[in-house]
Amino acid sequence: MTEKTPEYWMKLALDEAKRAESLDEIPIGAVLVDLETNTLITKAHNITQMTQNSLNHAEKVCLEHAMTLRGEKVLPNTALYTTLEPCPLCATAISFSRIKKCYFAAGDPKAGAVIHHTKLPTMHPHFFKTEYIQLKGSIEQDSIQLLKNFFQKQRKHS
Ligand SMILES: [Zn+2]
Repeated sequence: MTEKTPEYWMKLALDEAKRAESLDEIPIGAVLVDLETNTLITKAHNITQMTQNSLNHAEKVCLEHAMTLRGEKVLPNTALYTTLEPCPLCATAISFSRIKKCYFAAGDPKAGAVIHHTKLPTMHPHFFKTEYIQLKGSIEQDSIQLLKNFFQKQRKHS
């Protein structure tokens, strides 16, 4: 049996990002895991094109789906895995959802709010209580490459 490590779950999030890419969505994926049982709750990817809604980021879609599945408004004792550093919208959604841990792969120098710009969890610790962990290395590079390829292709088409 495969040990379900943070890398295992992040790979699953990366698969979601690849699915997004195949649908011409920005390749960002997210996976929510129950920390008590180390099992998958749900997964999602960016669907801003499909829904014509620029708020439908992978993380937010994943959290909303989990709330619907569980019939609960908060998701304590869960870990969110996302292929890109959360933006201010998603970091706020993660806090309102009471996510315990959030793992992310690529940093986002443009819209990131965890290790870039406002650094919300550091600057506003009473509200942003989620523990953020960046998974660096090959999985981080895979996520960066996926995004780079996508935006290069977009530029060629426009
Ligand atoms: Zn976001």
